[in-house]
Amino acid sequence: MTILHVDVNSAFLSWTAIKLLSEGYPVDIREIPSVIAAGDDGSRHAIVLAKSVPAKRYGIKTADTMFSARKACPNLVSFLPDFALFKFHSDRMFELLSEYSPVIERFSIDECFIDYTGCEALFGEPLCVAHEINRRIREELGFTVNVGVGPNRLLAKMASDFEKPDKVHTLFPDEIEKKMWPLPVDELFMCGRSSAKKLHSININTIGELAHADLEMLLGMFKSHGRMLWEYANGIDDSPVSVNDDVKEKSVGNSITTKSDLTAPEEAYPILLWLCEKTVHRMRKAGFMASVITVQFRNSDFVTYSHQMKVSGTVQTVDEVYAYAKKIFNEGWHEDPLRLVGVSLGGLVTEASEQLSFLGPAYSPAIEKPEEKIKRKEKSEALENALAQIRDKYGNDSVGHFGSFKPPKRPKIPKR
Ligand SMILES: [Mg+2]
Repeated sequence: MTILHVDVNSAFLSWTAIKLLSEGYPVDIREIPSVIAAGDDGSRHAIVLAKSVPAKRYGIKTADTMFSARKACPNLVSFLPDFALFKFHSDRMFELLSEYSPVIERFSIDECFIDYTGCEALFGEPLCVAHEINRRIREELGFTVNVGVGPNRLLAKMASDFEKPDKVHTLFPDEIEKKMWPLPVDELFMCGRSSAKKLHSININTIGELAHADLEMLLGMFKSHGRMLWEYANGIDDSPVSVNDDVKEKSVGNSITTKSDLTAPEEAYPILLWLCEKTVHRMRKAGFMASVITVQFRNSDFVTYSHQMKVSGTVQTVDEVYAYAKKIFNEGWHEDPLRLVGVSLGGLVTEASEQLSFLGPAYSPAIEKPEEKIKRKEKSEALENALAQIRDKYGNDSVGHFGSFKPPKRPKIPKR
């Protein structure tokens, strides 16, 4: 198998820069301290979704608040995300890549996997094609990408993440030891923040150390996720590139860790309301409406589950979302003590083009299995990643405040 992974460099920032330049904006925002930030710029809660290299030098990171970003760099220029623009460039890249293979998986708004197996006779050696794709996207579409080449999805993806921007990298089995094993374990695909933390606690700090760890022990610690992490660390992945031409489902959400466990719905409702307000506010700032509402639960044993509902049509007010969230909570809660609840909104469509389902079809309204949740979460990096970080951030920020938690003014809730 030969897989290529194509990943746009600083996608949101590059795409915004192209648009601004075409409109006569005097500078390339990639060359000055600049960010793409979601939310009201004046508000402390506006969040950095993407930053330029010069902005990064001021220590500005994705998911920082604009408040702290401006403190770090008073001259910072910020722009709102234009998701219709992002979708436009994403579509053009997908069209170009479709010339090279019929088997393409659109992994997120700025990433695709291409199964190049068997295409050599038509278009040449994988490495040559990778360079050609890299050059054509730069010349024809005006932005840069990294292309990773490997024998499976995992290794292609890890390869595209090596030195950026505008680079082609390979990661074949005989290169794993030298190129992948020295990396921090946090950089392994699917090794999220909490897994990394657990691994650090048992002194597994590099991908190589994880690759050599005892599988039985990992299974004990992480269940089936442990096997996957161990296999990935060893470069093992036989999942096929799945053909799909639409951008994966995205969502916005917030969660909160409670100071003491919640044991009754009445204790959860004010928190749900508060989460709905934050989430709806963010969704509306970005110009979306939602058709899928999900409530997340984490119990005192750290077991996470969720329950969701697809609404007919779309919702965009706190009242509507809160009414659904309560219903979903009551249906989905296992009546175990909860230490975290979250609300997220998916099946997002823009207000301007409700029919244009910008972020792909909504997923089916069923209880999501934990593995599926992990998969979906990890499967849509760019936007999802940025938003997940925001979610984490809001959640974490909220921890300390929870003791004095006061629900904001209660909106009128429609009876159901
Ligand atoms: Mg990218």
